[in-house]
Amino acid sequence: MRLSDRYEVPPGAALLYDFANTLDERRYVVDHMRLTGGDAIETPARLGAWFKQHDLSEHVDAGAWHDAVALRNALRSYLKLPPPERRAAAPALDTAASIYGLRVETDAEGRVNLIPQAGADTLGMVLVQFHLLAITGQLDRLKACADPDCGWVFLDRSKPGSRRWCSSTGCGNRQKTRAYRARRSQPNVSSV
Ligand SMILES: [Zn+2]
Repeated sequence: MRLSDRYEVPPGAALLYDFANTLDERRYVVDHMRLTGGDAIETPARLGAWFKQHDLSEHVDAGAWHDAVALRNALRSYLKLPPPERRAAAPALDTAASIYGLRVETDAEGRVNLIPQAGADTLGMVLVQFHLLAITGQLDRLKACADPDCGWVFLDRSKPGSRRWCSSTGCGNRQKTRAYRARRSQPNVSSV
């Protein structure tokens, strides 16, 4: 099952969401089970399997795999920053994206679309989705969870768009408990 199906991510963001989360850094306990994270594209063979699961090209050699991992890591670095600071990560993303040739196409209504070039790697589709989210003002809604034990890329569907954690009952709650414990364990200055 695709992650975007499990977490009901809309189709316009699904491929980017799934690709960014091929690196799972979650290390916390949920339902009495400790998550151990993992990399869904840690070998060329696993990247090939991921492509197949997402109806993309299956041909992966060592070079294509290397480029894909670089793109995934650059996307994650970009999404981990708060939206106003993301420009700092743009040059690295530009470098990683530059090999995925895209063509500009205008449709009958005058809308501009980015189409991966024939023969170009199909991860161009991830960048197309990235671009569409950016021009429709939705890219700021794609964020990485602020919990250092999580880092899951999530879609902020709250009205104000100010969510910091992928789950307010999970990561948000743990963060609050941690802050509470830290406050309580601080020596009481007045009693010293
Ligand atoms: Zn989280």
